[in-house]
Order: sequence, then structure tokens, then C-alpha cells
Amino acid sequence: MEITFLGTSAMVPTVERNHCSFLLEYRDEAVMFDCGEGTQRQLRKAKISPAKITKILISHWHGDHVLGIPGLIQTMAACEYSGTLDIYGPAGSKEFFSRMFDSFVLDAKIGVRVHDINEGTFFENEWFKLESKHLRHSSRCLAFAFIEKDRRRINLDYVKKFGLQQHPIMKELQNGKDIEWKGNKISADDATFVVKGKKIVYVADTAFCRNAVEIAKNADILICEATLAEDMKDKAEISKHLTSTQAAEIAKEAEAKKLVLTHFSPRYKTVTHIRDEAKKVFKNVSCAKDFMKIKI
Ligand SMILES: [Zn+2]
Ligand SMILES: [Zn+2]
Repeated sequence: MEITFLGTSAMVPTVERNHCSFLLEYRDEAVMFDCGEGTQRQLRKAKISPAKITKILISHWHGDHVLGIPGLIQTMAACEYSGTLDIYGPAGSKEFFSRMFDSFVLDAKIGVRVHDINEGTFFENEWFKLESKHLRHSSRCLAFAFIEKDRRRINLDYVKKFGLQQHPIMKELQNGKDIEWKGNKISADDATFVVKGKKIVYVADTAFCRNAVEIAKNADILICEATLAEDMKDKAEISKHLTSTQAAEIAKEAEAKKLVLTHFSPRYKTVTHIRDEAKKVFKNVSCAKDFMKIKI
């Protein structure tokens, strides 16, 4: 699993930071979280083909999170994108999307399905599921969790004792079923061990709220907005954003393993003070930069 940050600025882009977006690549999926203006150019710079993208998750319809969608889709069409792009966003997304695309001529088209989603699980396959919860922002806004499922791995040394190696029946053990092999019973519990799936959570624009803590519960990586430093706490509450300390409090209460801060106000030339403030509350914290990658 690899995460690439494509934009880490709030409201307006700066020389160093583009509008908000990151891409999570996992198996044959490339899930984009938000798509601010200029995201397609950031993909280009990161040498990631837009044709790879399978899903776009939109936290909310403020411009800094969605203005990159039309350009990106136009480019995907030019790349002869063959799949169907699934776009998930809060209630009203279908309407926002069609209004956005009604305003100009698009010659080439791709298959797009837009889903208005609510809280809970909105996608699930064999390998992972996607969940959402409402946040507390000035526009209807969702937090997202990418939850990889636990997997059973075979204890090869153990099954070797029964003369079992490289056989399709091992799939049964991986599915948690006991098997019979050459007259012996092999229990799935003895012959396998569980590898815990990873949980990646994205808390987009919000004031401090319980839902942010709940969705981030036990996250391996919590990517969380920290628009402002602690001295601007009042302004953060008015504009429904988080400060450095509040983001760290969410990570601490949720018992997340790692906190990555993003969506910094363009007023900050450096964000070291934001990281240092957060560090006082939650140790394992870093500030995202455009093109930063995390492998997990
Ligand atoms: Zn924003
Ligand atoms: Zn916003």
C-alpha cells in the first residue's frame, strides 16, 4: 500500500503546496481522496498515470477539494480510460457533479458513476472496505476510512510436518476451514496466523467533533487537517477547522499509531511550529508535503 500526497494547502495553492489531494494505491485500486485544482498536474509530476484511478472520494464540495475533477476526467478520457470511475461524496454530490459538467463542452467521455453517500460502509470487496462519517464543517463534509481486511497466512513450517506444500487445498485453510490431508486433520487455527489489515483514515475540513475521533479509532495512519496553529483557535472554530493541537487530540483519543497533518493555511511559510504544537499532545506526528510518499 502506498500513499502519495498531491496537495497539502488549504483554500489557495502556494508555490510549494497545491490544493488538497492524495492517492492511495493498493492492489489493483488507486483511490484518490479529494481532487483540488491542479491535481492532474501533480499526478504528472509524481509520474502516476491518471488512467490508474479507480475511485475518487470527495470529502465536500468546497472548491479547494473538487476543482480538479473536470480537468482530471477530461485527461482520463484523452488517455482512453477503459474502466468506470466511481465518485463518492456527501449527499448532493450527484447534482453538484452534473452542474459542474454542464458548464462546458466535453468531447470525449468516460464511464462515471457518482454516489451520494451517508455514514457507514459504502464499498466493500474481498480485500478492503470504505467507511464514512459526517464531520462538523461549514459545508456537509465526510471523513473516510480505508480498512484493509485481516488475512490468514499459512504457517508453512507447520503444514510441512503433514507433507503439505503448494496445494490448492491450502486456500481452505486460508479461508479459516479445517481440512483433511493424507488421513490427518489439520486445523486452520493451528496452521495459519492472522495478519491484521491496515486502517488509513482521512479527516478533512472540520471543527473538533466526536465523529472524527470515532472514525480514526486505532488507525495505522490518520491523515488529518490542521489548518491553523494553536494561537488561532478562535478563528479555527469560526471557520470550522482544526488547530494543530486539536488534530493531535483526535489522534491521541483515537489511539491512532501515526498522525500526518495536512491542509495548512497558506499564511504559513513553514509548518514546523504546527508539528511542534501537535507533538506536545501526540508523539508520532509529521507534516505532509506535496509528493511525500508513505509505504505501509
Ligand atoms: Zn479545505
Ligand atoms: Zn472546506
